Amino acid sequence: MSDDCIFCSIVAGEIPSRTVYEDDDVLAFLDANPLASGHTLVIPKAHHEHVQDMPNDLAADVFAAMQRLVDPIESAVDADGSTVAFNNGEVAGQEVPHTHGHVVPRFEDDGGRP
Ligand code: 5GP
Ligand code: ZN
Repeated sequence: MSDDCIFCSIVAGEIPSRTVYEDDDVLAFLDANPLASGHTLVIPKAHHEHVQDMPNDLAADVFAAMQRLVDPIESAVDADGSTVAFNNGEVAGQEVPHTHGHVVPRFEDDGGRP
């Protein structure tokens, strides 16, 4: 756990969130400011700032959780597809320095942007 990390505080239960999936190493929860209904963040419970900082087995667990969540998330909001992505580094739009994957439901009529 890293002090002053919002996502570590969510893992610790100190900040409320809406859990979508959880296991020993991975937590998925709804984005507080969703780009689309069902927008979900998938994080390692351990604090790692960037994708490349995660041990390979943890990165695999995070990605596998994202894979498993795509179908149920899309079904829940009747989406046509989804954007599955990591913003990695501040210049790439990473605002929270605890690596996180986005699953953003996409719709035929969303204009090409989530
Ligand atoms: P980034 O821009 O770093 O890739 O994405 C950060 C995401 O975290 C944003 O979509 C933002 O809405 C979300 N977020 C920031 N703070 C919180 C929070 O306290 N709770 C939840 N559920 N999401 C958050
Ligand atoms: Zn953290």
